[in-house]
Amino acid sequence: MLKKVLIANRGEIAVRIIRACREMGIRTVAIYSEADKDALHTKLADESICIGPAPSSKSYLNVKAILEAACLTGADSIHPGFGFLSENANFAKICEEMGIKFIGPNHKLIELLGNKSKAKETMKKAGVPVVPGSEGLLSSKKQALELAEEMKYPVMLKASAGGGGRGIRVAYTPEELEKEYDLVRQEAKISFNDDSIYLEKFIENPRHVEIQILADEKGNCIHLGERDCSIQRRNQKVLEETPSSILDDKTRTKMGEVAVKAVKQIGYTNAGTIEFLVDKNKDFYFMEMNTRVQVEHPVTEMVTGVDIIKEQIKIASGEKLSYTQKDIKIKGHSMEARINAENPEMNFMPCPGTITGLHLPGGNGVRVDTAIYSGYTVPPTYDSMLAKIIVHGKDRNESIAKLKSAVAELVVDGIQTNADFILKILSNEKFISNDYDTSFIQKEKLAK
Ligand code: ADP
Ligand code: ADP
Ligand code: MG
Repeated sequence: MLKKVLIANRGEIAVRIIRACREMGIRTVAIYSEADKDALHTKLADESICIGPAPSSKSYLNVKAILEAACLTGADSIHPGFGFLSENANFAKICEEMGIKFIGPNHKLIELLGNKSKAKETMKKAGVPVVPGSEGLLSSKKQALELAEEMKYPVMLKASAGGGGRGIRVAYTPEELEKEYDLVRQEAKISFNDDSIYLEKFIENPRHVEIQILADEKGNCIHLGERDCSIQRRNQKVLEETPSSILDDKTRTKMGEVAVKAVKQIGYTNAGTIEFLVDKNKDFYFMEMNTRVQVEHPVTEMVTGVDIIKEQIKIASGEKLSYTQKDIKIKGHSMEARINAENPEMNFMPCPGTITGLHLPGGNGVRVDTAIYSGYTVPPTYDSMLAKIIVHGKDRNESIAKLKSAVAELVVDGIQTNADFILKILSNEKFISNDYDTSFIQKEKLAK
């Protein structure tokens, strides 16, 4: 078993990983930036080491400083969490070369699947239905226009290196496509330093349903069911749940089987998520694969009882999966809301600042994953997510009631949060009656 894990992250996910390690008797090393000297992850780890100034490029993305910290503290492994270096193939490669276990798949698979266009081709070859679109990257605007004409509008332009909902645009007409072609290229260059883009059919009124998989390094692979992440703002997830209320058992089984087969075929290991779009006819199409733990992993943990972080560590230690597919039973329903430091009244502008008073909800079937505390100052430098409130109910209605009650109980004094916005979603008739898709927030005019 791994003995000492360096956590190359911050915030609630760093705390989540420290807790899992502690339960397993594994020592932990936190890294922190100058802005995070008083952060919870810095305080909770067995050892903490400052790796640079506040900007991510100088700290949480600073490969050299992080690896020096690992050597200095004698860490035998690195857990990258999500965001930051978690999908950086080069970082994983250097870890491999240095004999530090990167808790995730091999760098070659990160590289392959991180290139969304290549990932689609690979999945298609592995027998997975993919969103129809360009074969590989677009080489010119002319090609994009011809292809869109052939496939029929609307179409979507996507950055191949994209993530976090950025570098994605829909075009309903050739005029729009002409303009957006240049825009997406520019955006991709600025955000990901890679201007390769591809085109796919815009699936209308879809649901986002993803499959969580776990694969060990001995060739065993299982799935932990699905998560429905259709409640999104600007292609970014806001609220997630499992089971998905639009899947019937037949589709659910098929999706899980397709995901496991593909993962086995490409030799993927550790935790991963295959994201699909599901259309009105219940046909599903591969969109991308995330080669890391996801923000919304707790809903899966609630209904399966599997601790995904512990499984990641066990897999990285070379252990066999502790579950077979038959062991995985889905119990009840779980829902998660992302509480962010942002002001919905001002176009969701981030609202960092000092938390002067705090009350976190609790009770039967309520879990809060967070790294905030009373007196903590949320720095302006990083992601605005403050907490995830996760509930476990006997069915969807009970989850909604529990989440509503929990979010209403939350008090975060001193800064703005999106809690009221979340409550509006949870009280919406269409949401409650399962009559929605990924454009719900826009259509219901809950936000632009
Ligand atoms: P999830 O499916 O886990 O919600 P997201 O795409 O929302 O995945 O990303 C998870 C976290 O990683 C978020 O905090 C998001 O801001 C960040 N993230 C994802 N991709 C990128 C990227 N390419 N650049 C910067 N941050 C990213
Ligand atoms: P990211 O890497 O930023 O997570 P994804 O490719 O997963 O990007 O897409 C993010 C979201 O954008 C999806 O969850 C979905 O709501 C929307 N989306 C992406 N591709 C399509 C498509 N072809 N048709 C309709 N919606 C799409
Ligand atoms: Mg995605």
